[in-house]
Parts: sequence; structure tokens; C-alpha cells
Amino acid sequence: MAASQDNQPPAGTASALDYDAIIIGAGMSGLYQLYRLRELGLRVRVLETGTGVGGTWYWNRYPGARFDSESYSYGYSFSQELLDEWDWTEHFSPQPETLRYLNHVADKFDLRRDIQFKSRVTSAHYQEATRAWDVTLEDGSRYRCRFLITAIGLLSAPTMPRMAGVDTFKGQSFHTARWPHEPVRFEGKRVAVIGTGATGVQTIQEVAKTAGHLTIFQRTPNWCAPLHNGKIDAREMAKIRADYPDIFKRCQETFACFLHTPDPRGTFEVTPEEREAVFERLYADRGFGIWQGNFRDILVDRKANAVISDFVARKIRQRVKDPVVAEKLIPKNHGFGTRRVPLETRYYEVYNQPNVTLVDINETPIERVTPDGIKTSDAEHAFDIIIYATGFDAITGAYDRIDLRGIDGQRLKDAWKDGPQTYLGVLVEGFPNMMMLMGPHTALGNIPRSIEYNVEWVTGLVRHARDNNLTRLEATPQGVASWTDHVRALGMGLLSNEVDSWMTGINKNVEGKQVRTVARYSGSAPAYRARCDEAAAGGYPELRLG
Ligand code: NAP
Repeated sequence: MAASQDNQPPAGTASALDYDAIIIGAGMSGLYQLYRLRELGLRVRVLETGTGVGGTWYWNRYPGARFDSESYSYGYSFSQELLDEWDWTEHFSPQPETLRYLNHVADKFDLRRDIQFKSRVTSAHYQEATRAWDVTLEDGSRYRCRFLITAIGLLSAPTMPRMAGVDTFKGQSFHTARWPHEPVRFEGKRVAVIGTGATGVQTIQEVAKTAGHLTIFQRTPNWCAPLHNGKIDAREMAKIRADYPDIFKRCQETFACFLHTPDPRGTFEVTPEEREAVFERLYADRGFGIWQGNFRDILVDRKANAVISDFVARKIRQRVKDPVVAEKLIPKNHGFGTRRVPLETRYYEVYNQPNVTLVDINETPIERVTPDGIKTSDAEHAFDIIIYATGFDAITGAYDRIDLRGIDGQRLKDAWKDGPQTYLGVLVEGFPNMMMLMGPHTALGNIPRSIEYNVEWVTGLVRHARDNNLTRLEATPQGVASWTDHVRALGMGLLSNEVDSWMTGINKNVEGKQVRTVARYSGSAPAYRARCDEAAAGGYPELRLG
């Protein structure tokens, strides 16, 4: 590596390396990884498809996009200066503010000089002879690097619905994750939204404010809960700033790095009156409390789950005036919290507006998109704008979109055909020197908290390689088998693993993603970190180092 005079790769290969490390992606993880690897003195290049930094917050510009984690628990924690100088203006920052924040980070740490924009990686092939990765961009340019670090996101490969006629529509149409950089106006327009996940919910409640008429095509309703956003004034921001050490300490201690952590009591260990009072308080509280801070058994015990589901169903019935519409909005095939809970601001009240119609496509399926709109089994709906809030080929989808090949040309996609197999969610047997940030089988939760840990662990490993003249790092089969078995075992008994969602690897719009897989680590973040720390402290016994 360039950083160390003593550390020479095998003879004849040093000069052939363009970079010590290539990072794919300039989102939150790519930016931080660049910062840390630069500190080690490495020659690093970030290759980014977009024209700017920000990843998720660069692409998802749809109306209403914002954090669902408290802003001050979401930002980076690694730089005191950054914490001191950045003011959040809302408890749940809207996308434009978050994108400004990430641009500020890139400028402050002078990161842009090592980031190459408009550079989509199409393939990366490992070569044993050089112990290096050959990386190719869409425009044909090629780079060779020792370490390949994927910072490509877990919800970054948008998927369109498999519907006839999508390309024939004459009006404007957008996938929420490919939203244009120019504002889109809805005043007086007939607008359709397909999809009612966390993205659809945020979009719908915003578009309903101005659209001439909004028609929502719902396949599966989700259990949504109030966000309770609010502005942060200078006084409150000063208090938050003073609390940062406690805020981040708390995030380190909680199950999923949120400010909320489960109530240690079981649902039936309290009286029905106490239980109702807890639910009411959580429903009135900010953020994910009702999901992440509820009784400890709601996501594993069917009876407990039924009680909280009944509570939220009653709220929906109270908030939606038309009882027929209310019933359509109440999920019947899964319990509360077994899919990611969309947080909302007057989402259910949208359905009381005269300019809003809900179409349940289980009753009247979409037959096709037409030049003028959408044809269902019982009507032709005319639209000016169609918004596809149809989600992502999650977790492994971004990996599938790059021709990633390890030893002897083995494709990652083939290696993972029965579900991902990883070591700590970071390394893959047969793919030496490739390290994944927020890859399958890593602790997710409040993502930036997990990113910071993930990046620091990878940085530690690269430092270890540098200090010990190592040019080849590979997970052992035993390491991968034991971690993958552990991740699968953790998923047993979770109600969420019995439900189709991106979290269980299902995307009905993608070939080969119709069977549930365990792609997500569902243990606690502290347990994940303990396991990773132990591996590092022990000199990485489950890696083959050379
Ligand atoms: P999603 O949860 O996968 O939702 C996609 C929606 O599109 C679902 O309602 C799905 O219906 C529907 N859909 C897909 N194909 C369809 C088709 N052919 N016909 C009709 N409907 C179709 O995706 P998402 O809403 O983009 O959210 C993904 C994740 O991103 C979230 O769970 C969350 O983790 C993250 N996110 C975070 C934030 C935040 O932090 N603020 C905001 C937005 C998203 P089915 O359910 O029937 O498949």
C-alpha cells in the first residue's frame, strides 16, 4: 500500500495498482469510509453514479421525504466540530436539509477531490495473480485496486412494477427514488401513486395537499404510526448539542441504535388499563417509540402482537371517516411492526379529503398502464402524473446489479443464489479483499449508527493489513458458515420473518426474489458489535490472511 514503505504487494504488482482502495458509492457510508481510509494515508477513490454526494438522500427527492429517526440521532457522531457547527431545524429532517448536511460534510473534510461522479461501476473482478480488483465503469474506464469496499446501500436499486404498458404513458411518471432535480407541481393535476410503503406514505401525505385529484393504488396496507415532527429552535438545538454525548451513548446501548428501546415488561404483565395507557403514550410520542419502545414481546408473541395491532386498528378507524375505506387501510395479513412501520403526519386524514380516492387493487387489479392513465378491472383512470413508490430490490439488489466476480470468476450472484452467506456481513468467502458496508447480515436499525461502526471495523481491518504487510484478506468457510447460521438462528421466532417484505428478501417485481431469505441480521446492535470487536481483538481468527 502506498501508506507503508515496508508493505509491498507481490513482486511486479505494486505499480499496477491505481488505488489502494476503491469505494463504490458516495452516500453516508462511502463518505465516512473515505475520511477514515485517508487518515491511514491510503490512496482512495470513490466511484459514484450520481452527480453529487448523499446516496439515499441524493436519489430520494420525492415530496415529503424525510428522516424517520430523530435528526440528532441520525447525523455523524465522529467529529465534535461537525456536531458543534451543524444545526438541525426539525426533529425529523426533510430530505433537502439532509442533502445540504451531507454536502457540508463533503466540503468540510475536503472529500470531493477523491470522489469521481457520473461513474457507474458495471463490473469488479478479483484477480488472484495480482491480489487486486479490476473495476470497470460504464464508460469503459478501468481501475485496479487492492481493496474493494462496497458502500452501495441496502435500499438503492429501485424497482418498477411488472405491469403492461408502463412505457406507453404519455404524462409524467417517476419512481420515487429517481425523482427529478427540478420541482414537480401537482396543482390541478390528476395524480396516481402506486405503493403504500414508508415512501408511498410520505409521498401521499404531501402530494394530497396540492393535487387536483390523487388516486392511491394500494396492494397491501401497512401499519402506520404518527411521526410527531416539530421544528427545533436555537434554544432547543443548544440543549440537544449539550446532550449529544448522552444521545449517542443511548444509541450505542439500544437494541437497534434508535433512541427508543423495548419496554422490559411483557404485554400481559400489566393490567389492560396500564397497557392501554402505555400504547396511548407511545402513539402520542415522537418517532419509532411505538415500534421500537413497546413491550418486549410484541414482535415475537402472537397474542401480544394482536393486542397492539388491535390498538392501532382502532386508531385508524377513529381517524378515517368512511368505515369502508378505514377497513381497507387496516392490514389483515400481518401484525403491527412485522414490516417496517411507516411514520406519518396526517396520513390517514388524507383519505377524508374530497380530492383523494383509494383503489384497493386486490378488489380491482391493475390490468395495464395506458397512454392516458391506469386501467383496472373495473375502470379507466386518467392521469397527468403517475408516481411509482414501488420500492427496491433490497439488500442484495445493488450487488446483483454489478458483475462482481471473485476467485476463478465466480459470480457473487451465484454464490448467493440461496441467500447471502457472509462473515459478519462484511466479507465473503471466495471474494478476497472485498468488504461490504451495510451489506447483508449486518446490524441495520438506525442506519448511520451502524454505518459508523461498520466503517470503523473495516478501517481497523485495513489498518491491520497495512501494519502486517498483508495483501490478501478472505473469510474462511468456517467463519462464513458460523456467522450465516447464527444470523439464520436469530431470525427464528420473529413474526417479521413470517411476512413478505423487503426485509425477508421478497420483491414480486424481481425474478428470483419470490422466496423468503434471511438477508438481515436481527440480533441486537450491541451483540453484533461485541462479536465484531472480539474478532478484531483476537487478530481476525476467522479470516485467512496473507
Ligand atoms: P416498500 O416498503 O417495499 O413498498 C413498496 C410498495 O409498493 C408496497 O406498498 C408494495 O406493495 C407496492 N408495490 C410494489 N410493486 C407493486 C405492484 N406491482 N403493484 C402494486 N403495488 C406494488 O418500499 P418503500 O416504501 O420505498 O420503502 C422501503 C424502505 O425504505 C422502508 O421500509 C424504509 O426502511 C426505507 N425508507 C425510509 C424512509 C425514512 O427513513 N424516512 C422513508 C422511506 C423509505 P406490497 O406491500 O403488496 O408488496
